[in-house]
Amino acid sequence: MSASLEKGVRVLKEMIDAPIASYFSSCVHCGLCAEACLFYTETGDPKYTPIHKLEPMRRLYEQEYTLLGRLKKMVGLSKPVTDAELGQWQELVYNSCTLCGRCSAVCPMGNDIVYMVRKFREGMSAAGHAPVGIKGAVNRTVNIGSPMGVKLPAVKAQMKHVEEDHGIPIPMDVVGAEYLVMLSSMEIINFPEYLAAIAKIMKQAGRTWTLCSTAFEATNAGMQIGNSDLARVIVSRIVEGAEKLKVKTVISPECGHAYTALRWEGANLIGRPFTFKVQHIIEVLGEFQEKGLLKTEGFETDRLTFHDPCQLARRGGVIQPQRNLMNMVAKNFVEMPDAGYMNWCCGGGGGASAIEEGEELRLAAFKKKKSQLEAVKPDRLVTACANCRIVLEEGLEHYQMDIPVIGLTELIAEHIPDLAKSEGA
Ligand code: SF4
Ligand code: SF4
Repeated sequence: MSASLEKGVRVLKEMIDAPIASYFSSCVHCGLCAEACLFYTETGDPKYTPIHKLEPMRRLYEQEYTLLGRLKKMVGLSKPVTDAELGQWQELVYNSCTLCGRCSAVCPMGNDIVYMVRKFREGMSAAGHAPVGIKGAVNRTVNIGSPMGVKLPAVKAQMKHVEEDHGIPIPMDVVGAEYLVMLSSMEIINFPEYLAAIAKIMKQAGRTWTLCSTAFEATNAGMQIGNSDLARVIVSRIVEGAEKLKVKTVISPECGHAYTALRWEGANLIGRPFTFKVQHIIEVLGEFQEKGLLKTEGFETDRLTFHDPCQLARRGGVIQPQRNLMNMVAKNFVEMPDAGYMNWCCGGGGGASAIEEGEELRLAAFKKKKSQLEAVKPDRLVTACANCRIVLEEGLEHYQMDIPVIGLTELIAEHIPDLAKSEGA
């Protein structure tokens, strides 16, 4: 057995905790999880059945922790997990799983398959079987501070643009600010309008906020690859920044997995409670709306629909605020079939969008989103995750669907009067 396989198998065994053991032992093989997974529904290939994606781990569980499994292993009826097998499984635990949680939501036995896949990824990563694209993103996050290699000067350049275009100063490293605003690399590189939107919204709401020069990137590639140690390093950087600046709330950007990593996993990863609250930007906007701090003018009249990011709606339970916000600025907001809690994934979450060799499968899975969109025929599509936005844009282009995609924060900000100009007038 090679050293990496030995390490991977050891980590896999360590990952089999009480929940995993109970999930494997309670599976009744009903197949309902298959119908919930877009990689299965859009390809019809049984290998994409969610519980099957965990087969090597199930076998290890059986061989190590059940009498029948031990007997089967002894007489050669249950084969040991091999390096070649783990290599083959890479496609099933990374390329074809976005950790969207739809399978977990339908399992009648309450099996949290996302939890299992994430634990399996820990073993895969230790065995050296993580995709090159995610490995690169992890290395850049640890060494540079961002999965796309974005450094502080790029953030400062965006700050300067926003200040020049909107006349609103962008605060950085302000001790005692109420909110610490995090960004994702995608927003810094692809969607700079997000930062401008935040500046306008905070100014109108009269709230103090800041960016942090040592922790501006929220994306947690460690969680995506399945490496808790790296995930901890990335979360710790944000915690140190937030505590240094003594903020009350850290705002997760329009990025699904950043929110999950910080909001639901962060305190467990660092082993203590946070001294601050964590909210997704949509939750913050929802609160501002409820308190009357958000005052928009005018309405979109074209047909808009909303794509719920899995980590925000299904895994995070944030479903109504985005709808209240949409109705605040849109006269013709229509819901796709299965919208909300059971929305279908864009196909690129959980690190899948960083896997180049997974593109063909991702585009095949996108047929599900295509059919959802065809049912309502929107003029534009709104979402609240920069990663979803990129994946949606790629899928729409591939299927030649002319539907522009926009971020919800940006859409709201477009309806906020230009405060700098009105003050100067
Ligand atoms: S839905 Fe649950 S019980 Fe049914 S096959 Fe999948 S994991 Fe097993
Ligand atoms: S989490 Fe989503 S993508 Fe992964 S197996 Fe379950 S349904 Fe499929």
